[in-house]
Amino acid sequence: MNPAALQVAGWKKRKASCRLSAIPDCRARFLCRYLIRKHPGNIPAGAVFPASSAGKTAAMSAGERLKKKMKAQVEEIVVSTSEIYDLIIVGGGPGGFSAGIYAMRAALKTVLIEKGAPGGQMAMSGEVENYPGIERIGGPDLSMQFHQHALSYGLEMVVSEVKEVEPGLAYHSVHLDDGSVLKAYAVILGTGGSSHKLNIPGEAEYYGQGVSYCAVCDGFFFRNKTVVVIGGGDSAAEESLYLAKLARRVYMVHRRDALRASKILQQRIKAECKIEMIWDSVPVAIKANEQGVSSIELKNVKTGRHQDLPTDGVFIFVGFSPNNQLVPSGIQMNANGYVVTDDKCETSIPGIYVIGDLRQKYARQIVIAASDGCTAALAAAHYVENKKATESDSCQLM
Ligand code: NAP
Repeated sequence: MNPAALQVAGWKKRKASCRLSAIPDCRARFLCRYLIRKHPGNIPAGAVFPASSAGKTAAMSAGERLKKKMKAQVEEIVVSTSEIYDLIIVGGGPGGFSAGIYAMRAALKTVLIEKGAPGGQMAMSGEVENYPGIERIGGPDLSMQFHQHALSYGLEMVVSEVKEVEPGLAYHSVHLDDGSVLKAYAVILGTGGSSHKLNIPGEAEYYGQGVSYCAVCDGFFFRNKTVVVIGGGDSAAEESLYLAKLARRVYMVHRRDALRASKILQQRIKAECKIEMIWDSVPVAIKANEQGVSSIELKNVKTGRHQDLPTDGVFIFVGFSPNNQLVPSGIQMNANGYVVTDDKCETSIPGIYVIGDLRQKYARQIVIAASDGCTAALAAAHYVENKKATESDSCQLM
């Protein structure tokens, strides 16, 4: 099921009538809640609406029409060039939208496919303070701005889940969850990554009942309560600081005696009196009662001592893996599953590009994903131009 639909009409104001409980996707739910709070009574265009809203109907019917048209063409053996997109972008994060903007400016016939709300992980960030030119902005607001900017160029968007990317010599095929197939000379994959799991008892059982991987989405439910954050990296540090604004107490549990997080975040953690560090400790089990999570069992790795720490919530930030399920076999990946590309973001299969957190690189940031999107779209424009020129040359020879 598509978790949310995208409202794509201009910047006209619209009454906010989201039924939050009806939105199954936590990113969409968070975006909706955020937008209602930030723009009381009115939601700017580009906002995320629940399945029942008019926005969904409008956007989905456009998507459905496109899918129906494409389905009818699947059986054809000879595909006419007018049925082929120049470019398909998979993923609506900062990389995908940036690629969309550059592709539209390069006059490529482009479609962007996203299964959920726009923005990817960016939409889940409370505040973004390091996107050049913007001192401070809410992640959902920046997501809406990327989305709106791309739509202003007429970028076509389909809300659907991609099941397979099938490389081909003449064109590449992208299979959607309803069985329809879109074809394009070039494909850009920007599917991002996902949070690591601890795989301890209680983690999966109490997910949504006190266990969370997104403070910005779920922190609201822990106002004036006690929470435990697991991890010592940038994400754990940032999310602890966010939770400290809402919760009564935040325990940050780290398996070593030094944080991996950047120095500036470490200083902020130290200065925040609501955050208490628990060093050299790993979580063993999460326990719950009828109300949800009630405590977490920790083990000190130096002394071997176990303690049961009472808490209302457990937020887990222990790393991240690339979402590489759609990467076609034959494309080179590193040992951690990140795709290896050249400096044009092109993979080992010509015409298939990878951007953002899925791509092997030094750092994973919004600005880098956006930069990847630009690079890949410009490279794709060049590739498509050459491909079409080669095709017309071979036609003339026949
Ligand atoms: P990360 O940097 O890999 O940190 C993961 C943390 O979890 C580490 O402290 C690690 O401990 C701990 N950990 C891993 N497995 C564990 C386990 N099984 N049990 C307990 N603890 C465990 O991941 P991240 O914080 O998600 O960040 C991912 C990337 O995004 C990084 O490159 C980061 O710099 C970047 N990022 C940047 C920003 C920003 O600049 N604003 C914000 C968020 C993320 P050890 O330290 O002992 O390995």
